[in-house]
Amino acid sequence: MTGLLFGTGGTPHSAKTPSTISGIERIAELGLGCMEMEFVQGVRMGEAGAHQVAEAATRHGVKLSAHAPYFINLNAHEPEKIAASQERILQTARIASLCGADSIVFHAAYYLGDPPEKTYRVVKKHLGEVMNQLKQENNRVLIRPEIQGKPSQFGTLDEVFNLSTELEGVAPCIDFAHWHARAGGFNSYPEFASILKQVKERLGRAALDDMHIHVSGIAYGKKGEIKHLDLKESDFQYVELLQALKDYEAKGIVICESPNLEEDAQLLQTTYNALHKAG
Ligand SMILES: [Zn+2]
Repeated sequence: MTGLLFGTGGTPHSAKTPSTISGIERIAELGLGCMEMEFVQGVRMGEAGAHQVAEAATRHGVKLSAHAPYFINLNAHEPEKIAASQERILQTARIASLCGADSIVFHAAYYLGDPPEKTYRVVKKHLGEVMNQLKQENNRVLIRPEIQGKPSQFGTLDEVFNLSTELEGVAPCIDFAHWHARAGGFNSYPEFASILKQVKERLGRAALDDMHIHVSGIAYGKKGEIKHLDLKESDFQYVELLQALKDYEAKGIVICESPNLEEDAQLLQTTYNALHKAG
């Protein structure tokens, strides 16, 4: 893949219908490059539907990814909730693969008062089981735990980078807005660059060549993320982020999760292209 593709988390608001195929068509009309299918309330797409989606994505040249259901906690204290969480990741990966997607994104866990080190071990064990199953199925979709915006959620940079180095087939979804909301700061060129440097040093140049990024404006407080905002209504320094991504020659996809979806996706794309023209 050359450079970065920009798109929306879910079907653009201006699509003819809320369906995935309408979303793909609209992404292409808008001149955007990718879309994340939001299976956040459950995977309701069947195999036949997935084949149609794959066909539409190929026809329109739109790269797809998928977001797994929110109801996942690989650190749940009840075994049945762990099993259900694993099943939701598997279902998402199976359908995503049929859709021709390369990656799925998910929210891995909550600490539930457990120490972070213990949570990490538990999440790694349960995610490892999922990865083994996918390997058996010959499913090569990358499984991407997302950087999370609240301190109650498992998903710091370190945790996600560690899982990515320790488990084959696991890679990060770097949500820069979440990390800004959670860590405070991380809203300037040197700070964005420091994250990209870590990706390169810890995961290798190949990881910078296949990035999966979430961006939006964000409101936050003591407990981290409050809600997503449109970029221009927020303090998020997206131009500095795009400059850092350009300077590190990051490639891959940037999914915009602002409430205005495609408007901010286009703003990001236009800004990024202008930085390239400026040299
Ligand atoms: Zn997410």
